[in-house]
Amino acid sequence: MGAGEAASAGPRVGVLALQGDFREHAHVLARLGAHVSLVRRPEELAAVDGLVIPGGESTVMDKLARAYGLAEPLRAAIAAGMPVYGTCAGLIMLADTILDAIAGQQTLGGLDVVVRRNAFGSQNQSFETDLDIPALGAEPVHAVFIRGPVVESVGPRATPLATLADGRVVAVEQGNLLGTSFHPEITGEYRFHEYFLDRVRSRSLSRSRNG
Ligand code: GLN
Repeated sequence: MGAGEAASAGPRVGVLALQGDFREHAHVLARLGAHVSLVRRPEELAAVDGLVIPGGESTVMDKLARAYGLAEPLRAAIAAGMPVYGTCAGLIMLADTILDAIAGQQTLGGLDVVVRRNAFGSQNQSFETDLDIPALGAEPVHAVFIRGPVVESVGPRATPLATLADGRVVAVEQGNLLGTSFHPEITGEYRFHEYFLDRVRSRSLSRSRNG
């Protein structure tokens, strides 16, 4: 294998780069060996096997996704089974239903959940806590919440992955979709990205096998 092939051997992962902390995600994914690209246009989305939707501001991300002609291609990719991991605003984008949205705000949908925006109050009510997430191993996950959403209800197609001590759900998965209310990309916590990359790898493997 030549050097060029080795460099491109990792899974091809995009980070939606319309707005928000996409650089932090790109950094973590590259550290984990993924072949990372930033996605702002439909052609860039078509070139990746998985996508991260970062934290930021979902109202802005929604407007930009529609303005850039990305919202429909993103919905189609999600419906086709592309692995997608959304953090915070990214989780909001993946939710089928949102509460406390601004007028006209749309999501991409896919996750059978109801998510409430800014559920923990304003910026100065951001907080950090440790979460037990058995799916990721015995070591607790240090979670940073920044004006994060909460998953108010989980429909039958989705599964909660993490809850706060008071029982509120802050991480969910459904097939190839994964969402967290918090930001592993800024704490050196790589296990969610690994979990996501496993899905991307198995999907690109099965796609190359099936032609
Ligand atoms: N409050 C933001 C929103 O509604 C999300 C915050 C974040 O991604 N850190 O989109």
